[in-house]
Amino acid sequence: MTPRSVAIAGCGPAGLAAALLLARDGHRVTLFERFDTPKPIGSGLMLQPTGLAVLRELGLAEAMAAHGARVERLLGCTREDRVVLDVRYRAMRGDRFGLGIHRASLFALLFDAVTAAGIAIETGRAVAASEPASGGGRRLRFADGSTGARFDLVVDALGSRTPLAPPTGRALAYGALWTSVAWPAAGVLSADTLEQRYHRASRMVGVLPTGTRPGAATAEASLFWSLRLDRLDAWRAAGLAAWKDEVRALWPATEPLLAQITDPEQLTVARYAHRTLARPAEPGLIHIGDAWHSASPQLGQGANMALMDAYALRQGLRGAGTVAEGLSRTVALRRRHVRLYQALTALLTPVYQSDGVAIPMLRDRLVAPLSRLPLVERLQAALVAGLVGRPLAPLGLDADGPAGHHQVA
Ligand SMILES: Cc1cc2nc3c(=O)[nH]c(=O)nc-3n(C[C@H](O)[C@H](O)[C@H](O)COP(=O)(O)OP(=O)(O)OC[C@H]3O[C@@H](n4cnc5c(N)ncnc54)[C@H](O)[C@@H]3O)c2cc1C
Repeated sequence: MTPRSVAIAGCGPAGLAAALLLARDGHRVTLFERFDTPKPIGSGLMLQPTGLAVLRELGLAEAMAAHGARVERLLGCTREDRVVLDVRYRAMRGDRFGLGIHRASLFALLFDAVTAAGIAIETGRAVAASEPASGGGRRLRFADGSTGARFDLVVDALGSRTPLAPPTGRALAYGALWTSVAWPAAGVLSADTLEQRYHRASRMVGVLPTGTRPGAATAEASLFWSLRLDRLDAWRAAGLAAWKDEVRALWPATEPLLAQITDPEQLTVARYAHRTLARPAEPGLIHIGDAWHSASPQLGQGANMALMDAYALRQGLRGAGTVAEGLSRTVALRRRHVRLYQALTALLTPVYQSDGVAIPMLRDRLVAPLSRLPLVERLQAALVAGLVGRPLAPLGLDADGPAGHHQVA
């Protein structure tokens, strides 16, 4: 496609990756971000082989690996130490792994690459709407009432509360509290494992190793605690000591992490919604990442899906005669995988975050024995890796990089 003018709204993983990819194809890209200094919100996340394949194409996989923590295993146990979930990436062929990383590291490496590429960024620009421009293309409208220049294409990468798409989906009853702490010196936790402890589906504590942020000297972990959001006020009123007692009772090994939390303000509240747009593309406008689809973090795919959407946009526009054709190609490249993982995540939410008793009881008694069957073991690993449905093949990507030839699903 001949170079186009592209406005990308939002400096999250989707927006930054799309900016890099489209600029490299010669498009004239401008990024818009509400914050004066673009910054990430929240603590850690898991990059999967899917997201890592996109980052490898961007030339950023090694830098990510240097600042993240290689995760080989996902382990979930009851408070009685009964293993409920034990997923190992090595159950798949190839050198597959997850990468626990602080959001700040993912953001900093993408943002530095955007800056180095000389891509224009307008900060302090809260986007409020977009409207078709006379003569084709679109304009952004901002919260201060101003209207921006005309662009051939507007990319909505504003996250799950985007004002550029109609509201849809449902907010979830359970959210989580997240914090970053220094990785404990004593070897009570495994540095290559995302580990969780559950009591039914109503209580859960987890620890994700997140590596060392750029410029930092010590490795960190994200500690997260599942919480029904209507109990947030009661949680605050009960105080930190009562909460720590609850966490310790579920998983005593978290003690060295809990000791670092001295103020409730260290914990950030995360709210989740299950939403998928029926029409991810409109004339001159496409929604990518969480703006298109968002879900609970049970399968931890959001940032990876955002990176694949950005890559699909690059592929979709390449070779298309018109923007409209490029957008429908983009949606076709991603729609099946988006639907599949949105449905799977919705299915898993009551298993890990709900007030139910029967489903978690079945989980505790059935999942672990079943997952020892080799086929189930492999399928579970592919599910966590984001590879079920073979999403990389249509994008021309490979989970094992240029030298690899396999994609397990
Ligand atoms: C607690 C938690 C844990 C998670 N764990 C994982 C995990 O392990 N693995 C994983 O892959 N995903 C995980 N996710 C999901 C992941 O964080 C998201 O899917 C991902 O960040 C989506 O990227 P995005 O670029 O689409 O949107 P976002 O990251 O939400 O970025 C949106 C950007 O747009 C900006 N913006 C928003 N509104 C406006 C506006 N009106 N005007 C201008 N700018 C605006 C924001 O400031 C931000 O920079 C998790 C999410 C949460 C909350």
